[in-house]
Amino acid sequence: IVSLRNVHKSYGAFEVLKGISLDVRKGEVVCIIGPSGSGKSTLIRCINGLSAIQSGSITVDGQEVNDPKLDKLALRKKVGIVFQQYNLFPHKTALENVMMAPLKVLREPRAQVEERARALIAKVRLTGKENAYPGQLSGGQQQRVAIARSLAMRPDVMLFDEVTAALDPETVKEVLVTIKELAAEGMTCILVTHEMGFAREVANHVYFTDGGIIVEHGKPDQLFKNAKDPRTRQFLSQVL
Ligand code: ATP
Ligand code: MG
Repeated sequence: IVSLRNVHKSYGAFEVLKGISLDVRKGEVVCIIGPSGSGKSTLIRCINGLSAIQSGSITVDGQEVNDPKLDKLALRKKVGIVFQQYNLFPHKTALENVMMAPLKVLREPRAQVEERARALIAKVRLTGKENAYPGQLSGGQQQRVAIARSLAMRPDVMLFDEVTAALDPETVKEVLVTIKELAAEGMTCILVTHEMGFAREVANHVYFTDGGIIVEHGKPDQLFKNAKDPRTRQFLSQVL
Protein backbone atom coordinates (compact mmCIF):
# COMPACT_ATOMS: atom_id res chain seq x y z
CA ILE A 1 0.00 0.00 0.00
CA VAL A 2 3.02 2.26 0.61
CA SER A 3 6.14 1.98 -1.48
CA LEU A 4 9.33 4.05 -1.45
CA ARG A 5 11.97 3.69 -4.13
CA ASN A 6 15.37 5.30 -3.82
CA VAL A 7 14.02 8.41 -2.10
CA HIS A 8 16.40 11.36 -1.79
CA LYS A 9 15.56 14.42 0.25
CA SER A 10 17.76 17.42 1.04
CA TYR A 11 17.42 20.55 3.09
CA GLY A 12 19.60 22.92 1.09
CA ALA A 13 22.97 21.25 0.67
CA PHE A 14 22.27 18.80 3.48
CA GLU A 15 21.03 15.44 2.28
CA VAL A 16 18.77 13.92 4.94
CA LEU A 17 17.46 10.90 3.03
CA LYS A 18 20.04 9.22 0.83
CA GLY A 19 18.15 6.66 -1.17
CA ILE A 20 15.46 5.07 0.99
CA SER A 21 13.46 2.13 -0.28
CA LEU A 22 10.80 0.36 1.71
CA ASP A 23 7.48 -1.39 1.21
CA VAL A 24 4.49 -1.67 3.46
CA ARG A 25 1.65 -3.99 2.61
CA LYS A 26 -1.94 -3.49 3.59
CA GLY A 27 -2.55 -4.41 7.23
CA GLU A 28 1.13 -4.47 8.12
CA VAL A 29 2.71 -2.75 11.09
CA VAL A 30 6.13 -1.37 10.26
CA CYS A 31 8.43 0.25 12.81
CA ILE A 32 11.23 2.63 11.92
CA ILE A 33 13.97 2.89 14.51
CA GLY A 34 17.25 4.74 14.57
CA PRO A 35 19.30 7.42 16.28
CA SER A 36 18.25 11.05 16.60
CA GLY A 37 18.78 13.02 13.41
CA SER A 38 18.80 9.95 11.18
CA GLY A 39 15.87 11.29 9.15
CA LYS A 40 12.95 9.30 10.61
CA SER A 41 10.56 12.24 10.97
CA THR A 42 11.53 13.53 7.55
CA LEU A 43 10.75 10.13 6.07
CA ILE A 44 7.32 10.00 7.72
CA ARG A 45 6.50 13.53 6.56
CA CYS A 46 7.46 12.67 2.99
CA ILE A 47 5.03 9.73 2.95
CA ASN A 48 1.98 11.95 3.34
CA GLY A 49 3.36 14.74 1.22
CA LEU A 50 4.11 17.21 4.04
CA SER A 51 7.69 17.35 2.75
CA ALA A 52 8.62 17.17 -0.92
CA ILE A 53 11.41 14.88 -2.15
CA GLN A 54 14.14 15.63 -4.68
CA SER A 55 14.24 12.28 -6.41
CA GLY A 56 12.93 8.76 -6.23
CA SER A 57 9.35 7.70 -5.88
CA ILE A 58 6.79 7.39 -3.11
CA THR A 59 3.48 5.77 -3.87
CA VAL A 60 0.43 5.28 -1.68
CA ASP A 61 -2.18 2.95 -3.15
CA GLY A 62 -0.30 3.14 -6.42
CA GLN A 63 -0.51 6.93 -6.59
CA GLU A 64 2.69 8.96 -6.81
CA VAL A 65 2.77 11.27 -3.78
CA ASN A 66 4.98 13.84 -5.50
CA ASP A 67 2.93 14.04 -8.65
CA PRO A 68 2.01 17.73 -8.86
CA LYS A 69 -1.39 16.71 -10.21
CA LEU A 70 -2.13 14.57 -7.18
CA ASP A 71 -5.03 15.76 -5.05
CA LYS A 72 -3.20 16.57 -1.79
CA LEU A 73 -6.40 16.60 0.17
CA ALA A 74 -7.27 13.11 -0.99
CA LEU A 75 -3.80 11.98 0.08
CA ARG A 76 -4.14 13.56 3.53
CA LYS A 77 -7.47 11.80 3.97
CA LYS A 78 -5.95 8.51 3.01
CA VAL A 79 -2.83 8.85 5.19
CA GLY A 80 -3.39 9.91 8.79
CA ILE A 81 -0.51 11.25 10.82
CA VAL A 82 -0.04 11.63 14.57
CA PHE A 83 2.91 13.51 16.05
CA GLN A 84 4.67 13.65 19.38
CA GLN A 85 2.90 16.98 20.05
CA TYR A 86 -0.82 16.30 19.96
CA ASN A 87 -1.75 19.80 18.71
CA LEU A 88 -5.36 19.53 19.80
CA PHE A 89 -7.44 22.69 19.63
CA PRO A 90 -7.36 23.84 23.27
CA HIS A 91 -10.71 25.63 23.19
CA LYS A 92 -12.57 22.68 21.73
CA THR A 93 -13.68 19.59 23.65
CA ALA A 94 -12.39 16.12 22.87
CA LEU A 95 -15.56 15.41 20.90
CA GLU A 96 -15.33 18.69 18.96
CA ASN A 97 -11.68 18.02 18.14
CA VAL A 98 -12.60 14.65 16.65
CA MET A 99 -15.57 16.10 14.75
CA MET A 100 -13.82 19.08 13.24
CA ALA A 101 -12.15 17.60 10.14
CA PRO A 102 -15.10 15.46 8.98
CA LEU A 103 -17.36 18.49 9.37
CA LYS A 104 -15.09 21.09 7.79
CA VAL A 105 -13.12 19.04 5.29
CA LEU A 106 -15.42 16.17 4.36
CA ARG A 107 -18.55 18.27 4.93
CA GLU A 108 -20.44 15.30 6.28
CA PRO A 109 -23.76 15.77 8.10
CA ARG A 110 -23.35 16.75 11.73
CA ALA A 111 -25.42 13.95 13.28
CA GLN A 112 -23.49 11.30 11.40
CA VAL A 113 -20.13 12.90 12.26
CA GLU A 114 -21.05 13.09 15.93
CA GLU A 115 -22.12 9.49 16.06
CA ARG A 116 -18.87 8.34 14.53
CA ALA A 117 -16.81 10.67 16.72
CA ARG A 118 -18.43 9.20 19.84
CA ALA A 119 -17.67 5.71 18.59
CA LEU A 120 -14.05 6.67 17.95
CA ILE A 121 -13.71 8.16 21.42
CA ALA A 122 -15.03 4.89 22.82
CA LYS A 123 -12.58 3.00 20.64
CA VAL A 124 -9.61 4.86 22.15
CA ARG A 125 -11.14 4.12 25.56
CA LEU A 126 -12.14 7.66 26.48
CA THR A 127 -15.87 7.24 26.96
CA GLY A 128 -16.98 9.86 29.48
CA LYS A 129 -14.33 12.36 28.36
CA GLU A 130 -16.24 13.62 25.30
CA ASN A 131 -16.82 17.04 26.82
CA ALA A 132 -13.42 17.47 28.45
CA TYR A 133 -11.07 20.12 27.11
CA PRO A 134 -7.49 19.10 26.25
CA GLY A 135 -6.18 20.92 29.33
CA GLN A 136 -8.32 18.65 31.51
CA LEU A 137 -6.84 15.48 30.02
CA SER A 138 -3.56 13.70 30.71
CA GLY A 139 -0.91 13.54 27.98
CA GLY A 140 -1.85 9.97 27.15
CA GLN A 141 -5.54 10.85 26.97
CA GLN A 142 -4.80 13.83 24.71
CA GLN A 143 -2.71 11.64 22.47
CA ARG A 144 -5.59 9.17 22.20
CA VAL A 145 -7.93 12.02 21.24
CA ALA A 146 -5.38 12.96 18.56
CA ILE A 147 -5.46 9.37 17.28
CA ALA A 148 -9.29 9.40 17.23
CA ARG A 149 -9.19 12.72 15.40
CA SER A 150 -6.95 11.24 12.75
CA LEU A 151 -9.14 8.12 12.44
CA ALA A 152 -12.18 10.33 11.88
CA MET A 153 -10.95 10.92 8.33
CA ARG A 154 -11.12 7.14 7.69
CA PRO A 155 -7.48 6.78 6.63
CA ASP A 156 -6.11 3.66 4.94
CA VAL A 157 -2.71 4.16 6.52
CA MET A 158 -1.70 5.68 9.86
CA LEU A 159 1.69 7.27 10.45
CA PHE A 160 2.90 7.71 14.02
CA ASP A 161 5.97 9.82 14.77
CA GLU A 162 7.23 9.10 18.28
CA VAL A 163 3.73 9.53 19.66
CA THR A 164 4.71 8.28 23.11
CA ALA A 165 8.02 10.12 23.44
CA ALA A 166 6.60 13.01 25.48
CA LEU A 167 4.49 10.85 27.81
CA ASP A 168 4.97 9.56 31.34
CA PRO A 169 5.89 5.89 31.45
CA GLU A 170 2.45 4.91 32.83
CA THR A 171 0.57 6.66 30.03
CA VAL A 172 2.83 5.34 27.29
CA LYS A 173 1.22 1.95 27.72
CA GLU A 174 -2.36 3.10 27.19
CA VAL A 175 -1.42 4.78 23.91
CA LEU A 176 0.46 1.69 22.76
CA VAL A 177 -2.58 -0.45 23.62
CA THR A 178 -4.71 1.79 21.39
CA ILE A 179 -2.25 1.41 18.50
CA LYS A 180 -2.04 -2.32 19.09
CA GLU A 181 -5.83 -2.61 18.87
CA LEU A 182 -5.85 -0.62 15.65
CA ALA A 183 -3.21 -2.88 14.21
CA ALA A 184 -5.19 -5.95 15.29
CA GLU A 185 -8.17 -4.61 13.34
CA GLY A 186 -6.02 -4.52 10.24
CA MET A 187 -5.04 -0.86 10.07
CA THR A 188 -1.80 -0.35 8.18
CA CYS A 189 0.55 1.42 10.60
CA ILE A 190 3.97 2.96 10.11
CA LEU A 191 5.56 4.01 13.37
CA VAL A 192 8.71 5.83 14.26
CA THR A 193 9.28 4.66 17.80
CA HIS A 194 11.75 4.17 20.60
CA GLU A 195 9.48 1.55 22.16
CA MET A 196 11.49 -1.52 21.32
CA GLY A 197 9.16 -3.80 23.29
CA PHE A 198 6.26 -2.64 21.15
CA ALA A 199 8.26 -3.03 17.94
CA ARG A 200 9.25 -6.52 18.96
CA GLU A 201 5.75 -7.60 19.88
CA VAL A 202 3.58 -5.86 17.29
CA ALA A 203 5.65 -5.02 14.20
CA ASN A 204 5.68 -7.24 11.15
CA HIS A 205 8.84 -5.58 9.96
CA VAL A 206 11.43 -3.24 11.46
CA TYR A 207 13.68 -0.82 9.60
CA PHE A 208 16.83 0.57 11.21
CA THR A 209 17.87 3.94 9.77
CA ASP A 210 21.10 5.81 10.34
CA GLY A 211 22.56 8.75 8.48
CA GLY A 212 19.72 8.89 5.97
CA ILE A 213 19.92 5.30 4.78
CA ILE A 214 18.27 2.06 5.79
CA VAL A 215 21.13 0.17 7.30
CA GLU A 216 19.22 -3.01 7.94
CA HIS A 217 15.67 -4.33 8.07
CA GLY A 218 13.91 -7.52 8.87
CA LYS A 219 11.41 -9.31 11.04
CA PRO A 220 11.65 -8.05 14.62
CA ASP A 221 13.01 -11.32 15.97
CA GLN A 222 15.75 -11.42 13.39
CA LEU A 223 16.69 -7.76 13.80
CA PHE A 224 16.63 -7.68 17.58
CA LYS A 225 18.40 -11.00 18.11
CA ASN A 226 20.68 -11.29 15.11
CA ALA A 227 21.44 -7.85 13.77
CA LYS A 228 24.17 -8.11 11.17
CA ASP A 229 25.39 -4.56 10.84
CA PRO A 230 27.62 -3.21 13.62
CA ARG A 231 25.68 0.10 13.61
CA THR A 232 22.43 -1.73 14.27
CA ARG A 233 24.06 -3.77 17.02
CA GLN A 234 25.49 -0.69 18.63
CA PHE A 235 22.17 1.17 18.51
CA LEU A 236 20.27 -1.78 19.93
CA SER A 237 22.79 -2.27 22.72
CA GLN A 238 22.07 1.30 23.80
CA VAL A 239 18.29 1.12 23.71
CA LEU A 240 17.47 -2.46 24.72
P1 ATP B 1 14.75 12.50 16.15
O1 ATP B 1 14.92 11.08 16.59
O2 ATP B 1 15.57 13.44 16.98
O3 ATP B 1 13.33 12.92 16.04
P2 ATP B 1 14.83 12.17 13.27
O4 ATP B 1 15.43 10.87 12.90
O5 ATP B 1 13.35 12.27 13.26
O6 ATP B 1 15.41 12.60 14.68
P3 ATP B 1 14.72 14.33 11.37
O7 ATP B 1 13.85 15.21 12.19
O8 ATP B 1 14.11 13.68 10.20
O9 ATP B 1 15.45 13.24 12.28
O10 ATP B 1 15.95 15.22 10.92
C1 ATP B 1 17.01 14.70 10.14
C2 ATP B 1 18.02 15.79 9.89
O11 ATP B 1 17.45 16.80 9.09
C3 ATP B 1 18.51 16.50 11.16
O12 ATP B 1 19.89 16.69 11.05
C4 ATP B 1 17.77 17.80 11.16
O13 ATP B 1 18.54 18.80 11.77
C5 ATP B 1 17.55 18.07 9.69
N1 ATP B 1 16.30 18.79 9.45
C6 ATP B 1 15.06 18.38 9.79
N2 ATP B 1 14.12 19.25 9.40
C7 ATP B 1 14.78 20.27 8.79
C8 ATP B 1 14.37 21.48 8.14
N3 ATP B 1 13.09 21.81 8.05
N4 ATP B 1 15.33 22.27 7.63
C9 ATP B 1 16.64 21.91 7.70
N5 ATP B 1 17.09 20.79 8.29
C10 ATP B 1 16.18 19.97 8.82
MG1 MG C 1 11.95 12.76 14.69
